[in-house]
Amino acid sequence: MEGKTHIVGGIAAGALYLSTGGTIENDTMFFASCIAGSLIPDICSPTSTIGRMIPLLDNLVSKAFGHRTITHSLLFLVAAFLLFRYTPWPAAFEFGIWLGMASHLFLDALTVRGIQFFWPFKIRVGLPLGIRTGGSFEKVFFSLLIMLVAYCGYHMYL
Ligand SMILES: [Zn+2]
Repeated sequence: MEGKTHIVGGIAAGALYLSTGGTIENDTMFFASCIAGSLIPDICSPTSTIGRMIPLLDNLVSKAFGHRTITHSLLFLVAAFLLFRYTPWPAAFEFGIWLGMASHLFLDALTVRGIQFFWPFKIRVGLPLGIRTGGSFEKVFFSLLIMLVAYCGYHMYL
């Protein structure tokens, strides 16, 4: 999926969490973290939003592991979870980042290309008839995510 879809996906995940009864002490920090987290897994892609911001890192990660492997895996989510357990950062930041990363993996798993969720096992998790990155179906999906965010926002704040 494209960066902008992931950003909206991260916001949607945060909005879903809050509108289904989840609580967090700092909404603004939470949503900012959801957005940042939603871009992190694509540090392995040179053409991604975050890959362009950190030019060397994307090359290192993609050369060492390949795209949509380690940063798109269960292992990565567990590692982040463990890291955050032992760091004193605010929950709104840690949970936001984690939720944003999880939303990224979920969205990429809906694509034709899929992800290697069980990396280092090379098992591809994706949809054979799923979304093609940058295709018209992704645009429709992007609009649906925006509507979901609007719907959740309406229920949370109005
Ligand atoms: Zn990705």
